[in-house]
Amino acid sequence: MAEEKRDYYEVLGVDKNADDGAIKRAYRKLAKKYHPDSNPGDKEAEAKFKEASEAYAVLSDADKRRQYDQFGHSAFSGGGGGAGGFDFSGMDFGDIFGDFFGDIFGGGRRGASNNGPQKGANLRAQVRIKFEEAAFGCEKELEIVLKDECQTCHGTGAKPGTSKTTCTRCNGQGRIVTTQQSLFGTVQNVTTCPECNGSGQIIKEKCVDCHGTGYVAKKKRISVSIPAGIDNGQSVRIREKGEPGLNGGPRGDLLVEVIVAGSDKFQRSGYDVYSETEISFAQAALGGEAVIDTLDGKVVYEVKAGTQPNTRIRLKGKGIPSLRSSSIRGDQYVTLKVVVPKSMNSEAKEALRAFDAACGQTLSKDGGKGSKRRGPFHRS
Ligand SMILES: [Zn+2]
Ligand SMILES: [Zn+2]
Repeated sequence: MAEEKRDYYEVLGVDKNADDGAIKRAYRKLAKKYHPDSNPGDKEAEAKFKEASEAYAVLSDADKRRQYDQFGHSAFSGGGGGAGGFDFSGMDFGDIFGDFFGDIFGGGRRGASNNGPQKGANLRAQVRIKFEEAAFGCEKELEIVLKDECQTCHGTGAKPGTSKTTCTRCNGQGRIVTTQQSLFGTVQNVTTCPECNGSGQIIKEKCVDCHGTGYVAKKKRISVSIPAGIDNGQSVRIREKGEPGLNGGPRGDLLVEVIVAGSDKFQRSGYDVYSETEISFAQAALGGEAVIDTLDGKVVYEVKAGTQPNTRIRLKGKGIPSLRSSSIRGDQYVTLKVVVPKSMNSEAKEALRAFDAACGQTLSKDGGKGSKRRGPFHRS
């Protein structure tokens, strides 16, 4: 019963060359539309939701996307997912849903807990870097407070020599189910047991070193590798540096949001860089060499004779390296600003009047005020 699977790009309705942002936006839209919470009991919506989630899980992961682009659906068959199925077991779905549904549905999606291993919560931090550091990547040290397993009780929270007992409120389930009658039928509400906070167990005598939490908090220095090309507001994920997992589950991740400072020389748009360079009137008219600041240092640019004010030139490959491949870089666009001198010495003024006389007498044509009539060769 091999079903014909739809192409992942088609499922999300995006182009094959769509960037991460476009894929995320497309998925967000579909997830919102077909999410089971918005379509209770609608099997078709559920199927669409799963299909979109699967497509997103693959296309949002650079490695998986490459495999898919190369081999199609067969890249993932023969895994643990059944005939032609997709192996979700290696997938970081908790994160995808956590990241998305946190803001779509206002959080609270993890209320129904269980006693099995659970991944710890993600921690968030911020790091500020300079414009140039974002362009070429950098290493930063962060100080964060990390919880570690308490050595005294080995994470159980119980005083050594004592043990935990099963929570009587939830009978060790960790959650409490209440049913409610409503106009639409019976509604089941699942909430985390407040007595044991979802662990299903009660600590009678708490470990004194960790006050029963099982963890001790310690300040730790963590170095963060920030990849070249990162943009303001993007995050770097550091695996398993988040909160400890529950019941033997893995730690959550540390998500470091990168705040990129502005530059007084450059502005960024995607991987392209914009800047301005002043050139003199003489350079614009006669042509000549202008020195332009780039991310790689100063370069000399040959200004063409007759360059008009605000001409924009392109320096190919002088932009920001792509996050996907640092050998691919954006371009730099430079606006050439022709500077009109605000003050000149008398020699310069004289020369300019001579210039004017040589090409059309614009200074005296309007027949205006006396002083302007003065030709270049008459000194008062
Ligand atoms: Zn302890
Ligand atoms: Zn309980």
